[in-house]
Amino acid sequence: MRIIGVTGGIGSGKSTVSKILASFGAHIIDADRLAKEIVEKGQNALNEIVDYFGPSVLNAEGNLDRKKLSHIVFKDKNKLEILNNITHNNVAQKIIERLDSLDDNETAVVDAPIPIKHGFLDVVHEVWVVTADKEVRIKRVMERSGLTYNEVEDRINSQLSDDFYKSISNTVIINNGTVEELLLQVKNYYYL
Ligand code: ADP
Repeated sequence: MRIIGVTGGIGSGKSTVSKILASFGAHIIDADRLAKEIVEKGQNALNEIVDYFGPSVLNAEGNLDRKKLSHIVFKDKNKLEILNNITHNNVAQKIIERLDSLDDNETAVVDAPIPIKHGFLDVVHEVWVVTADKEVRIKRVMERSGLTYNEVEDRINSQLSDDFYKSISNTVIINNGTVEELLLQVKNYYYL
């Protein structure tokens, strides 16, 4: 099995690259989606979160109250780290389970904005990073989300830097041009 890890910051075009890879027949494992699934009612990660942070992080229906949890970890680095550990370990486990369920002749793509060590870097055979100039990313995210320029810029600045992403990548995809140009690059690297 070929396992490609695709990563990159917000607005770089990471999801678009995954969609292109899916159109070539690759099986996409979306870490963002898994991160949402693992905190659903009855899931392991939610139980671990409640064990540590207490039942006050649940709403009346027993679902995770994200606002409350964000509030708790917002200014407490230790608690944030504990939450990240719970999330990353559970996402890693799901990624590994999904990979194990695939056939050997399939190509899998693990699409993750945070290139975690266990469950991403230690399972993928190659890392692709998708990058674009900051102004291009801001414009694209503003159009997609309705956020303001400053809100998007804050998000970009709070995330991992392009230099970091590049330092862990084998392949750098520069997405400053059209979607057609992006498709050509992805095609080249996929069929290399
Ligand atoms: P990410 O997953 O990295 O946040 P997306 O793939 O969702 O980024 O891309 C951000 C937005 O920009 C989306 O609305 C997407 O359709 C658009 N987009 C991505 N690449 C291009 C491109 N080359 N030209 C124009 N729009 C693009």
